[in-house]
Amino acid sequence: MKRSLRFKLTAAFLLLTLLTFTLLGVLANVILKKQFASYVIDNLSRKNTEIVSTLSVRYADWGGRWDIGGLESIGIGAMSDGLILRVSNSAGAVLWDARVHNSGLCAAMLDAMAANMLRQDAGFDGGYTEKTYGVVSGGKTVGTVTIGYYGPYFYTDNDIRYLNTLNLLILLAMALVGGAALVAGAVMAKRLAEPISNVIRTADRISDGDYESRLQEDSTTAELAALAGAINTLAEKLEKQESLRKRLTADVAHELRTPMANLQSHLEAMLDGVWAPDAARLKSCHEETVRLSKLVADLENLARIEGGTRALQKEPVDLHALVRRAADCFESELAAKRITLGADLPDIAVSADRDKLTQVLVNLLSNAVKYTPPGGRIEVAASEGDGGVCISVRDTGAGIAPEDLPYIFERFYRADKSRSRDTGGSGIGLAIVKSIVTAHGGSVTAKSAPGEGSEFIVTLPQ
Ligand code: ADP
Repeated sequence: MKRSLRFKLTAAFLLLTLLTFTLLGVLANVILKKQFASYVIDNLSRKNTEIVSTLSVRYADWGGRWDIGGLESIGIGAMSDGLILRVSNSAGAVLWDARVHNSGLCAAMLDAMAANMLRQDAGFDGGYTEKTYGVVSGGKTVGTVTIGYYGPYFYTDNDIRYLNTLNLLILLAMALVGGAALVAGAVMAKRLAEPISNVIRTADRISDGDYESRLQEDSTTAELAALAGAINTLAEKLEKQESLRKRLTADVAHELRTPMANLQSHLEAMLDGVWAPDAARLKSCHEETVRLSKLVADLENLARIEGGTRALQKEPVDLHALVRRAADCFESELAAKRITLGADLPDIAVSADRDKLTQVLVNLLSNAVKYTPPGGRIEVAASEGDGGVCISVRDTGAGIAPEDLPYIFERFYRADKSRSRDTGGSGIGLAIVKSIVTAHGGSVTAKSAPGEGSEFIVTLPQ
């Protein structure tokens, strides 16, 4: 059966508290009984000594002889402490005996004590015990006193009451602390379970399509704050994906519409005889179909890379050869725009798919050439570090506005729509770069500011 976290935590806390307190209670009780027994034993021997010294002091007070009346009052006093006295003179003759004085009371007293002890401990091994002491006065033994009691030790009714009060106090303290622990446990369980319930509610809302839902990340419990953070990141990513998905459909339609509309209107004009199908017009139609084919090819290329249908053919790729091969594609454009291409490359080889990495460089160089005005400079550099190999392509071009920078790697994203269209861009080049680099386990970033040129840095693991 499924139970809530709150219920389970409270139950676990309660169980733990009960167990701990039962253990502590039993331990406290055992220790208390032991301590109390040793206290009672000490007390008993102290009383015995007191009786002996009282007898010797009184003997002297009575003028060096035994006073039977006096002995009786001492004996009756001892009886109230549970002690049965028998005093004899130095010749051994019994002067006063509690059993003779009141045998019924003595027997009742011993029975009551046996009952007391057995009530405390059913296995208590006790019985009538007596000890005999000599009474010394003026340096000589003037008699003996035999003290009988229920041994090895006994609890009087007062002792039992005292012991019960102590036990009750222990129980009360246990109940109090247990209650407090239960409340603390319930509060703690609530504090732990509530954020998790919030996470569930928010996750439910997100799965229902409410991608704007967010959780407070202010929990003082590190794992709960991290959980809230992870859910928020998930929601952010889903929100971004959702807006990309929506934009992608609109963008594909938009990208197709312009060349298709141009083509359609040109062909209709020619069919209607408005335009003569001369070479210039046919060339314009051809250019539109080329643009369409390029777009479809780019999309196919991207889909293939993203779908991972073709596995990477990794091999050591020499950076010099790679840059040379990519730069060859732009020889005429570079010359036409008088752009200088510099390369600062160490003699290292990266493990990569040669054709795909060439494509990365071609796309980056293509953009650099496109967006760098005549007379500018493009710099390709590489370095090897802890994170792998970094290849950077820097230009002195127009740069990218900060608000566009986070999106340039998205499909169809063009910072300046009209300018990009003039340059023939469809906004897919950098998306392809990102897919290839990601497939290699690397990353690509861009640094740029308007008017200060741009730098694209590709990092590939070695
Ligand atoms: P496109 O085919 O339009 O160039 P990309 O995906 O290659 O598409 O680039 C996306 C957008 O990023 C471009 O439209 C452009 O606005 C911007 N961009 C890319 N490279 C550069 C660069 N080197 N200098 C300035 N802007 C750039």
